[in-house]
Amino acid sequence: MASEPRRMARHTKIFIGLVVGALAGVICNKFFSSAPALALVQKYLSDPLGKIFLNMLIMVVIPLVFSSLTLGVAQIGDLKQLGRMGIRTAFYFLIVTAIAVCIGLTLVNLIRPGDHLPQETKERMLATYSQEATTLKGAADQTDFGIQTLVGIVPRNPFAAVARPNPDMLALIFVALMAGIGLTMIAQERAQPVIRVLEGINEISVVIINIAMKLAPFGVAALIFSVTSRFGFELLVALGWYVVTVLLGLTLHLFGAFSVLVKVFARYNPLKFFKKVETVMLTAFSTSSSNATLPTTLTVSQDNLGIPPKIAGFVIPLGATMNMNGTALFEGVTVLFLAQVFGVDLSLGAQLIVVIMSVLTAVGAAGVPSGSIPLLILVLQMVGVPPEGIALILGVDRILDMCRTVLNVTGDVTCAAYIARSEGVVLKE
Ligand code: ASP
Repeated sequence: MASEPRRMARHTKIFIGLVVGALAGVICNKFFSSAPALALVQKYLSDPLGKIFLNMLIMVVIPLVFSSLTLGVAQIGDLKQLGRMGIRTAFYFLIVTAIAVCIGLTLVNLIRPGDHLPQETKERMLATYSQEATTLKGAADQTDFGIQTLVGIVPRNPFAAVARPNPDMLALIFVALMAGIGLTMIAQERAQPVIRVLEGINEISVVIINIAMKLAPFGVAALIFSVTSRFGFELLVALGWYVVTVLLGLTLHLFGAFSVLVKVFARYNPLKFFKKVETVMLTAFSTSSSNATLPTTLTVSQDNLGIPPKIAGFVIPLGATMNMNGTALFEGVTVLFLAQVFGVDLSLGAQLIVVIMSVLTAVGAAGVPSGSIPLLILVLQMVGVPPEGIALILGVDRILDMCRTVLNVTGDVTCAAYIARSEGVVLKE
């Protein structure tokens, strides 16, 4: 009871940070966009403050994922139960992500935003963002997606897999799962000290997150200010139909599909659910990163919803990397939108490929801002839509990224709630 008012205050503070940062950014964008002082504020205040907050969260992700997942598996103990939970989780991820893509594809076929795009806007965007698109396409060509992605899940050197700017989360997950299984198979007296160390690491991570989250109202304000003070708002209007299609799809999935899933599978009141995961949604929105949100997702699912650490520790880290409903929906809509713009007629068969590839690439996308863009370029190439077309949407990507990341992480909590329920846990009211 004692901690409840404090948590409420945190939501509110973050929300106020978000609104203040957004408003200040929009005002500066409108009235002072060419003032040198604004560039200074961005460079020396909002960018570094936002980055420090983000880094503070991201810095605990590797130890947290490793310790939570290993402990989760070790505490589940029984390999049969682990298998059952693993299969349910994987099916849930795949099916719900496919539902998200289908919602997106239905809308994009109905609204046909590509047909509404004025030729002038198309040419302007292609010219403005072509440089960036070419660079991204170059990066995408380097991305191995396919059999190599599968092979890469089993790392030759687990330290090398994570000791780089973009850690390979799938490899980390694999190593953690194996370590957890190993712990269940060795003698108790040797497993216990390791478990105790991992519990210590886990607790230290949570302490660091709590400190970071005290900074959240300022960090969030700074992150949002950095985005809105630079953002070309006229782009939102120019690409209006496309933006509306993506946002409508995301809203339907978030409040429609998730509500039904929470009600039916977790047997929990959806309204209450959204209230409990508010901090998770706000953090995802302001950081645009499933990874940066992961620590918050983990603590909120345990503290607010009462999902036991062994289940949250198993499902949530997997979800942060593999379960990206918003990203898949966005990818599906974007591929079809660009196909419409470039007059590429995608048959039902080709659209089915879009569904499958959007689901798979959403599993492979990194949980960082714009993590899905290189893979989206691959899907475009695969179905014969000019990948340079990505230039059309780059200007609005950040805003859409903020929104789709909310779904990516909320979906992880819906899954954890379902798995907890299916294992007989009664969720906290
Ligand atoms: N930013 C997204 C995430 O972290 C990934 C993406 O769609 O680009 O979940």
